[in-house]
Amino acid sequence: MSFLSIQNLHKSYGDTRIFSDINCEIAQGEFVTLLGPSGCGKSTLLRCIAGLTGVDGGQIILGDQDLVPLTPQKRGIGMVFQSYALFPNMTVAQNVAFGLRMQKVARAESDKRVQEALDMVELGEFATRYPHQLSGGQCQRVALARSLVTRPRLLLLDEPLSALDARIRKHLREQIRAIQQELNLTTIFVTHDQEEALTMSDRIFLMNAGKIVQSGDAETLYTAP
Ligand code: ADP
Ligand code: ADP
Repeated sequence: MSFLSIQNLHKSYGDTRIFSDINCEIAQGEFVTLLGPSGCGKSTLLRCIAGLTGVDGGQIILGDQDLVPLTPQKRGIGMVFQSYALFPNMTVAQNVAFGLRMQKVARAESDKRVQEALDMVELGEFATRYPHQLSGGQCQRVALARSLVTRPRLLLLDEPLSALDARIRKHLREQIRAIQQELNLTTIFVTHDQEEALTMSDRIFLMNAGKIVQSGDAETLYTAP
């Protein structure tokens, strides 16, 4: 039974076709990595799912709902980008609370959920700091908390580790996976790093030139004759 089903998805920018006929099925709670070279369309696919850019055809079914006609806010999706894009003039807590304020969640409930989300990424003590007082890895954990706090049905991670140095990358990789499993959160993780894909995923989708060319677990993909 698939939770996310993408059917015949088409996307062009002007005359340039980015992909045509993308099809895939992802189960509830699955952690899927989209692996492929730079420029093959990974980010564009995530942006289509999140509703940050339009599609030219096809369906994106989450649960039993087609997301395509919905605004990004109505999709129930959390997204983390390579550049964490925190608001510099807001505290960590205010950054994390931002989406809840947009949803007009009451203050007491918001405070509770912000603290839970910060505890989850082990930044419970950092609520009143400002982004410039944090390391890159800590900023990315704030960005992760900001996406988790809205309790998304689907989490999209667009190369969230690429800007970080190797040691922090490994730690954050483990942290993301632990949180994802604890919440049983369906997740699509985009990377061009094969090691990340191999160590994190339930399943890997290999993407090339706008197509998903192969999919399977790490073992199946990389031990095939
Ligand atoms: P990836 O995430 O795999 O690196 P992208 O989805 O970012 O790939 O890009 C796929 C292709 O779409 C690239 O050729 C890129 O130049 C092009 N592209 C991405 N965004 C836009 C845009 N807003 N307008 C036009 N072309 C774009
Ligand atoms: P403020 O400067 O607005 O009082 P605080 O630094 O005291 O903000 O924020 C504590 C927490 O409450 C933060 O998570 C903040 O973003 C959040 N918050 C502030 N105002 C609201 C609001 N109107 N609705 C929901 N959450 C809010």
